[in-house]
Amino acid sequence: MSQVEILHTSLNSIDHDVSRSEHLSRFHNLDLENVTNPNTNALVHDLLSTNSPLRLTSDGFGGTEAGSEPSFFPSLPPLHFGHPEIHLRNGIMNASRLANDAEPDAEKAFFVADLSQVYRQHLRWVACLPEITPFYAVKCNPDPYVLRLLASLGAGFDCASNGEISQVLSIGGIDPSRIIFANPCKANSFIRNACKMGVDAMTFDNMDELHKVARTHPRAKLVVRILTDDTKSLCQLGLKYGAPLVTVPGLLAKAKELHLDVIGVSFHVGSGCYDPSVYSDAIARARSVFDMAKEAGFSFTLLDVGGGFEDALFEQAASVLTDAIHQHFPDRTNIKVIAEPGRFYVSKAFSLAANIIARRAPFSDSTTINENATLSDHPSVMYYINDGVYGAFNCILFDHQVAHPYVLSMNGSFHVPSSEPVCLSSVWGPTCDSIDCVSPKTNLPAGLRVGDWLGFDNMGAYTVCAASQFNGFEVSKVVYTLGGGVTAAEVRNNLLAFAAETRQ
Ligand SMILES: *Cc1c(COP(=O)(O)O)cnc(C)c1O
Repeated sequence: MSQVEILHTSLNSIDHDVSRSEHLSRFHNLDLENVTNPNTNALVHDLLSTNSPLRLTSDGFGGTEAGSEPSFFPSLPPLHFGHPEIHLRNGIMNASRLANDAEPDAEKAFFVADLSQVYRQHLRWVACLPEITPFYAVKCNPDPYVLRLLASLGAGFDCASNGEISQVLSIGGIDPSRIIFANPCKANSFIRNACKMGVDAMTFDNMDELHKVARTHPRAKLVVRILTDDTKSLCQLGLKYGAPLVTVPGLLAKAKELHLDVIGVSFHVGSGCYDPSVYSDAIARARSVFDMAKEAGFSFTLLDVGGGFEDALFEQAASVLTDAIHQHFPDRTNIKVIAEPGRFYVSKAFSLAANIIARRAPFSDSTTINENATLSDHPSVMYYINDGVYGAFNCILFDHQVAHPYVLSMNGSFHVPSSEPVCLSSVWGPTCDSIDCVSPKTNLPAGLRVGDWLGFDNMGAYTVCAASQFNGFEVSKVVYTLGGGVTAAEVRNNLLAFAAETRQ
């Protein structure tokens, strides 16, 4: 019979009672000069003026309400100032206070969204692709602040359903011409509704779609979605969408016959593209479709280069794209170029804090352990956290992502001593399903206990939007910050101006 080992339990309660010097060192990497959060100022003041250990108090810097903007958008959660790291820590301290008050949801996992990060991505976009208007792919993360910020920056939106169209239009101040209905296979009722809402631009890649559009939205401005090489991407969309080039002349002839207006071409190289050279071939194919269109009696005015932009490869992709556009479309006088980036804008902007709710030794059966297997290959401790693959980490299953946990707090401190030994661990979600594994093998400090917090960065793309409530676990909430540093003020001004504009 196998035996389940029990780890000795020494549950250290988190009381955040740490020395001043340690506290200062934890914040050493923050841009304190630029932090305008009154809470943070109070924190800095505390740090500089007291020699006694800091103690978390109910009116201390752990508050999540104080230090936020008076709402620009009354229906949305408060907006805070300051570096996201401050808010991860505030959230943790807040949780420990709520736990003391016996709140049932005290240690809930939470996201911190840094709107400055979205803004910085936009600055990169504009610097590298000044001629290409981004139509943000709403499906990637339909966060209400992200949508408003991007709207304030002049972006358009790629919507795939009625729900996404309504969400974008309900913000106010966004003309339906700033939406492309970029789903090539739409329900009849959705096309009819797009017509009613004034959304005219929509993609197609098959004959039936043309008949549907002719019946329900004859004034539509159609965009033919073509198949391109998506083998260099994490998520290959060509399995499902995209007209092979040989079918395009037939589709265009049918559109002519149905008196439909086709205005351009779109493609998607696949989401999470790790070889930007594919954009070059895609642009060449788009060029040939422009030529086919001319033959068929259309005069195309839209080139839609889709999504797929990876943060780390963005500059490279932008340069390939720019060169290919210049080569194949030397005269762009009557051509508008747009793209549908999703992941690029939001991936880095969201971090998740999750609480370790349980811990145990792995199940091991001494009779079946392979003599040759080295024990060091196997995680020696299993941590259970309160978000998993049915929640934010659905990106592991659906988006081929790998989660990299780090320690946010351990034993009541935000500082892990460098002397702390690490051990091979696995990290699991809270549901009762064994598929709910967040990280099968990762090195974590040996001293981690129940009640400590793990952090995960790059959690903005394809996470919150596809999270379920399986097993009764709620989707983790988002804490918003305008960010630290100089960009925070610019984000604030943009949102403020947008709010004023939409209120009139
Ligand atoms: C998902 C999707 C996008 C966004 O892709 P990213 O890889 O996140 O940039 C853009 N366009 C269409 C049609 C999509 O389906």
